[in-house]
Amino acid sequence: LSFKEYQISDEIIRALDSLGYERPTEVQQEVVPVALQKKDLSVKSQTGSGKTAAFGIPLCELVEWEENKPQALVLTPTRELADQVKEDITNIGRFKRVKAIAIYGKQPFNRQKIELKQKNHVVVGTPGRILDHIEKGTLNLQEIKYLVIDEADEMLNMGFIDQVKAIIRELPTDRMTMLFSATLPEDIEKLCHEYMKNPIDIEI
Ligand code: AMP
Repeated sequence: LSFKEYQISDEIIRALDSLGYERPTEVQQEVVPVALQKKDLSVKSQTGSGKTAAFGIPLCELVEWEENKPQALVLTPTRELADQVKEDITNIGRFKRVKAIAIYGKQPFNRQKIELKQKNHVVVGTPGRILDHIEKGTLNLQEIKYLVIDEADEMLNMGFIDQVKAIIRELPTDRMTMLFSATLPEDIEKLCHEYMKNPIDIEI
C-alpha cells in the first residue's frame, strides 16, 4: 500500500517521500480516503499512530492555494501540540507552499493579529486564544471549510469544551469536521452528534 493510491497531488506525495513516510499508517489508511471526500469523521486513535498526518494530508490536499483567507481550523488542547501540528502541516504542504500558523495564549496578541492578516491556509490553535481573535474580529472565518478537533478528550479534561462549542457555532455550517480522540466519553459523543453530519466512526 502506498500514498500514490490516494487522490493526492504529486507535490504532497513528494513531501511525504522526503519525510520518509513510505506507506500510510493504519489510521491514515482509514482516514485519508474518507477525508478527501469531505465526509465528517470521528476517529478514536492514540498519539503516535500518525494521526496528525491523517488529517494533515487531506487538509494540505484540499486547501486552495490561491485563497487568502484561512480555510482550515485545527483546535488543540495545548500550545506544544499546536506547534507540532503547524510544523507537520508545513512539512506535508511544503511543495504546495501551504501556510500554517499556530495561535495560542501567553504570546503577544497584536503580533498574532498582524500574522493573521497575512496569507494563511491553516490556522492551528488553542481554544481560548482562538476565541479571543474571533471575538475581536481578527480571525476571519468566512472561508473555513475544514475543522479539526484534535485530542478532544484532552480538551474536555482541561475544561475547554464550552470554548470549543462557542468556536464551532461561529463557523460556516457548510464545512467538513474531523474529531480525533484517544477515548470517546459521552460528552465527546454528544459533541459529534450535535456538530457533525453523519460522521463516519473510525476506531484504531
Ligand atoms: P502522531 O501520531 O501524529 O503524533 O505521529 C507519530 C509519529 O509518526 C510522528 O513522528 C510522525 O512524523 C510519524 N509518522 C506519521 N505518519 C507516518 C508514516 N506514514 N510513515 C512513517 N512515519 C510516520
